[in-house]
Amino acid sequence: MADNQNEGTKFLESVHKYFDNAAKYSKLSPGILAQIKVCNSVYKISFPVEVDGKIEVIEGIRVQHSHHKLPSKGGIRFSMQVDEDEVKALATLMTFKCAVVDVPFGGAKGGVKINPRTSSVKTLERVTRRYAAELIKKNLIGPGMDVPAPDYGTGSREMAWIADTYQALKYGETNALGCVTGKPVGQGGIRGRAEATGLGVYFGIREALADGELLKGANMEAGTMQGKRIIVQGLGNVGYHASWFCQQDGAIITGIAEREGGIYNPEGINVEEVFKYRSETGSLLNFKNCTNIENTLDLLEMECDILIPAALENQINLGNAARIKAKIIAEGANGPVTQEAEEILLKNNIIILPDLYLNAGGVTVSYFEWLKNLSNVRFGRMGKRAEEASYKRLVNAIESTSGKNMTAQEKAILTKGSDEVNLVRSGLEDTMINAYHEIRETMRQKNIPDMRTAAFLTAIEKIGVSYEALGIFP
Ligand code: NAD
Repeated sequence: MADNQNEGTKFLESVHKYFDNAAKYSKLSPGILAQIKVCNSVYKISFPVEVDGKIEVIEGIRVQHSHHKLPSKGGIRFSMQVDEDEVKALATLMTFKCAVVDVPFGGAKGGVKINPRTSSVKTLERVTRRYAAELIKKNLIGPGMDVPAPDYGTGSREMAWIADTYQALKYGETNALGCVTGKPVGQGGIRGRAEATGLGVYFGIREALADGELLKGANMEAGTMQGKRIIVQGLGNVGYHASWFCQQDGAIITGIAEREGGIYNPEGINVEEVFKYRSETGSLLNFKNCTNIENTLDLLEMECDILIPAALENQINLGNAARIKAKIIAEGANGPVTQEAEEILLKNNIIILPDLYLNAGGVTVSYFEWLKNLSNVRFGRMGKRAEEASYKRLVNAIESTSGKNMTAQEKAILTKGSDEVNLVRSGLEDTMINAYHEIRETMRQKNIPDMRTAAFLTAIEKIGVSYEALGIFP
């Protein structure tokens, strides 16, 4: 327990140091900066749950870091390692993450001390519903208040339970489904949410790979994903989708690190097959044509172009930072690099694509899901056919003026209207590209050498504008 607390405290200290480094470049008053840094509220609860006929006391927490925009937003983590400082660090990151990608929310995070892998589905449902009810009782959850989402150890199933509990207790509230995001599509979720964080990680890496000026520092030339060698830690929601999209675009996944060990193959590993194999056997070890790596952390230190830590915080720390050989670290997870480790990595000319930018795809699409819930209509439903009709008129005009007819297949491609998943992915791509260039512009204007400091500064300045416009109550 003490060790876990230390990990959480270290994580929070890292986030605060990152903030302080960036704040030095800001002209906002010290008072406003202090307000932007602190967590606004922390709610801790203990509640009883019946497990196999016995009563167990479960601890939960919800931290709302900032209310400069409402609702606040952030995932719920199920893990025995959950502690207050860890959740505060994650809530803090959420505020800056939302600001970086222009999602108009404050930051929050929640956690429940429970092991989702050893608990029965029945227990998980009871715990999730009771935790949600405790938050509802205190008005700490709601479409305009605070909107949770999945995180480590939770997924769409838990979000559906939360939405259902909210609807049961707030019967008839029109916007009730907007109380939580990451829901299954049939329960008010949005197409494209499950893979959003991983897809966002892919868009961010792709943008960086085309950025010759940034890559110069790491002795790399501008290019594409084609042939880039990638090692990924964690084959969960973020790690699986990020590596899958990179692989589709020509990257070679040479190593995958999971909790039970790692696998390595310099010729490349098919991510989809490994995922299936692990789901069936419970382990990725002994996957065909791969070498088993017994100590999973060893994989982080192996040669590659891009290392994607997508499991947990503090994975790259003083203990291993000097031995990291990747040219780019793409932070899929939150806080995978400690602040002391970052100093070493930057000295070794390793480029870090920081969490608060790179994994913001999840909250971006959560924002789209929330908008969908408030408007109670699927994206594309109103416009798709009208769009198609206008493309058809255009194609007909081209055919009649040119005197040439297109094939049915050509026509189908040219006249296809956008449905929900197309719109979500297009919104996500646009968001990740815009945020990337905003951060790079801040680096140039303020002469900031690393992307994390620039991303924090971009966020701090945007939040500062909100505070200045709002004034201080009373
Ligand atoms: P997940 O539970 O789906 O996956 C995590 C994976 O990491 C699991 O496969 C787990 O077995 C593996 N893992 C655990 N300990 C490990 C270890 N010591 N070594 C190697 N692998 C290990 O969780 P997720 O949603 O993919 O979240 C992963 C990280 O990404 C977390 O830091 C989370 O906060 C962050 N994140 C998630 C989202 C999202 O949309 N899910 C969004 C932003 C950030």
